[in-house]
Amino acid sequence: MDFGIAGKTALVCGASKGLGFGCAQALVGEGVNVVIVARGAQVLEDAAAKLSAVAAGAPGKPWVKAVAADITTEAGRAAVFAVQPDFDIVVTNAGGPPPGDFRDWDREAWIKAVDANMLTPIELIKATVDGMAARGFGRIVNITSSSVKSPIDILGLSNGARSGLTGFVAGVARSAIAAKGVTINNLLPGAFETDRLKGTMEGSAKKTGQDFQTVWEARKKTIPARRFGNPEEFGAICAFLCSQQAGYMTGQNILADGGAYPGTY
Ligand code: NAP
Repeated sequence: MDFGIAGKTALVCGASKGLGFGCAQALVGEGVNVVIVARGAQVLEDAAAKLSAVAAGAPGKPWVKAVAADITTEAGRAAVFAVQPDFDIVVTNAGGPPPGDFRDWDREAWIKAVDANMLTPIELIKATVDGMAARGFGRIVNITSSSVKSPIDILGLSNGARSGLTGFVAGVARSAIAAKGVTINNLLPGAFETDRLKGTMEGSAKKTGQDFQTVWEARKKTIPARRFGNPEEFGAICAFLCSQQAGYMTGQNILADGGAYPGTY
């Protein structure tokens, strides 16, 4: 299927690896120019090289630019918009907050989580949505978490901060921009095989005194699909949400979790 977005330009945050990279790869494959962002310059450059190889075989041979910056800071976002002022597609993403016990989190920990997982996506939406509406096309996909629908006890910072973003998106997606060809959706990963998941599992293993492999395999068994997701399949869903065909889907929370969420709706 041709998604009809070749020649568009996307910002993909947190894209040097994991789910963000999966999204950037799928978009480049559709012929979308991408600006990728992450803090670590070397890993980001390596990711840009991989994406450029994909771009060479993609429709219209899109370009790939890398900006090494912390997207949760004003300076980081300014660096991105200095490279490319307008975007047709924005994928918001940053590292998830650390796991732990809520009794240990002070105001600073909460502000950091809210900054990364709520206020940064809101700032990026604010900076891009009116330009998208004026041009009559826009797609924003926020990478959130299945924890928004089904909270995870040790990830309270994530449960809380991302729920705030979810509430904001529910309103803004249905505002006047909806009639201007702009959609905003949240994509909710369950367990995907990335460094982030490995880090979380290492934490659980340590906490329970089990070895990593035991915890890793046991976690798979809790998922109806009996496996973890991979960033390629996550990226494909993201690219679809950015497609012309998905123009009538907005304000939605789309789970990709191998059936792990047990609810009917
Ligand atoms: P990952 O493999 O650790 O990758 C995170 C990416 O984001 C890296 O490229 C990282 O590069 C970048 N990043 C982190 N903080 C950043 C910042 N402040 N500014 C710019 N870039 C930043 O993580 P992932 O598994 O892909 O997860 C992506 C998001 O989905 C996270 O918010 C995570 O909590 C959420 N999630 C993941 C899963 C899962 O199973 N994987 C499940 C639920 C939710 P640098 O560190 O170099 O900046």
